[in-house]
Amino acid sequence: MYQLECIECGQKYTDSEVVYTCKCGGLLDVIYDYSAIQLDMERLRTEAPSVWKYKALLPVEGKPVSIHEGGTPLYRCDRLAEKIGIKELYVKHEGLNPSGSFKDRGMTAGVTKAMELGMKTLACASTGNTSASLSTYGAKAGLPVIVLLPEGKVALGKVAQALIHGAKVLSIKGNFDEAVVLVRQLCDEEKIYLLNSINPYRLEGQKTIGHEICDQLGFNVPDRVIVPVGNAGNTAAIYKGFKEFMELGITDSVPKMTGIQTEGACPVTKAFKMGVEDIVPEKNPETIATAIRIGNPVNAKKALRAIYESGGCSEAVSDEELIEAQKDLAQLEGIGVEPASATSIAGLKKLIDSGVIDHDEKVVCVTTGHLLKDPEEVMNISTKPITVDANIEAVRKAVFSR
Ligand SMILES: *Cc1c(COP(=O)(O)O)cnc(C)c1O
Ligand SMILES: [Zn+2]
Repeated sequence: MYQLECIECGQKYTDSEVVYTCKCGGLLDVIYDYSAIQLDMERLRTEAPSVWKYKALLPVEGKPVSIHEGGTPLYRCDRLAEKIGIKELYVKHEGLNPSGSFKDRGMTAGVTKAMELGMKTLACASTGNTSASLSTYGAKAGLPVIVLLPEGKVALGKVAQALIHGAKVLSIKGNFDEAVVLVRQLCDEEKIYLLNSINPYRLEGQKTIGHEICDQLGFNVPDRVIVPVGNAGNTAAIYKGFKEFMELGITDSVPKMTGIQTEGACPVTKAFKMGVEDIVPEKNPETIATAIRIGNPVNAKKALRAIYESGGCSEAVSDEELIEAQKDLAQLEGIGVEPASATSIAGLKKLIDSGVIDHDEKVVCVTTGHLLKDPEEVMNISTKPITVDANIEAVRKAVFSR
């Protein structure tokens, strides 16, 4: 009922092959015969959202390796909307997945596939959250995990997760893009299953963000969805979720897909502004948002196609702008996110200010990871706690001082 297909040359591969990219080098997509898919409409209307609610649209036969991923809240954010100057704003907070990022949606699908394929060891290169998630799902599945991290460039909470869930953690003396090259070679030569987002099954799990947004809006489609962009898989995946619902006649439109990067790491934004599908890799990407500190995003072509096809756009924000958005989310809406996640809000603000986004649009911003992933960044951008002697006069004085 499904196959893998190259997005460049159309070459097909069966779902029993361990393959990540086409012989021609192109990215692979999972394709379905939608006419053969029977959706239980009663279940669709009544069951609470979660990744596996949409199992009929996922390329997995057996029992999922699952610890309840997805089903994250879609918050209506009126205070933040008022500050930014837009009528209807929602935040889909993916930081509330089991390991604290949307990566869990992809990993539940990808690790389930690894079990089906009979793979014995799992690996990834990661800016942090992919490794945290893979370590979590590897533990649940009972499979050993190897993760390659760029030394000194991964937020503390994410390293802690990989360690406690029992992964073998390698700190590579290089950046993320270099770690990706190494892990791909390792997996090819040692028959280890690769779970970077080049793996098409991971993106299938992530497309359920699109399904859930529709579902939570009463099977309506927002005008626009704004997503932080690193390796660019999520932008493409979410778009696919919306397209599928349209294909199945559940909805009748797709949102304008809008991808946000940082000024220090924005090959996708640059390609969009030039109107092309191919990025020019950046050698030394740099940003406080370590999750998207990526110079050579593997899924850029898929994401750019989604952006062009949906009539969306891409913009880059500064670290200062994303820090302001991170504080606004936390202080106006009670939503705690890590730096990369705040780029969706910072990008929205920038695109409203420049007139690209209309005040009347109904917008969903995706926040990709939880605040506690990166406590060090928070301490660096916040005023320090006030140290006070343990007596009431000192406490009162501190409370009323300015
Ligand atoms: C992985 C990640 C991203 C980037 O997602 P891509 O699919 O690689 O574009 C953004 N934010 C956070 C918190 C992430 O973990
Ligand atoms: Zn091909």
